[in-house]
Amino acid sequence: MNASPRVGILALQGAVAAHQRSLAGLGVSATLVRTPDDLDRVEALVLPGGESTTLWHLLKVNGLAEPLADRLAGGMPALGTCAGMILLASDVLDGRTDQGWFSAIDLTVRRNAFGRQVDSFECDLELPAVGAPDLHAVFIRAPQVERVGPGVEVLAAVDGGPVAAREGSVIVTAFHPELTPDTRVHRLFVDLVAER
Ligand code: GLN
Repeated sequence: MNASPRVGILALQGAVAAHQRSLAGLGVSATLVRTPDDLDRVEALVLPGGESTTLWHLLKVNGLAEPLADRLAGGMPALGTCAGMILLASDVLDGRTDQGWFSAIDLTVRRNAFGRQVDSFECDLELPAVGAPDLHAVFIRAPQVERVGPGVEVLAAVDGGPVAAREGSVIVTAFHPELTPDTRVHRLFVDLVAER
């Protein structure tokens, strides 16, 4: 049997431990990535939820923004959830002027826009890529997808708005798959990494 893929979790801020638990449930012992050296040791990266403005600042301060941009441009598989989705998008609306992102998936997202009237909500989602039953999804000040590029596959939607998508080896979700015991989104990602 192949060794489990070397998956890292960007561990500067946000829902790091929850992603670690989800991956551990699949037998994947994730590396916490805080430095360029850590990044060199992984073949795929989870970008967690948190606060994309803070995450960007910490990426810069820790010297990770450039090496991570290079890895993503080189095709490193990535899973971005909520703030992680914002960091991976190609265009960010309602961001801070000093906020950057990686343009690793051809999506335009608007920060803090999804379910604006309630801020946070939960629902059951049909996500054919992971099969039945529906997936329970937790949204916390989630980004709203406002444009989907031609090469992007929408994996799930709520009221017609995309909430999960994939382009090449990049998967993003506006919700937090790490906050429920259901590991099927992480499984989708780990399988994608193992296939490469
Ligand atoms: N609103 C946050 C941001 O803009 C994302 C929220 C989250 O990750 N739960 O970064």
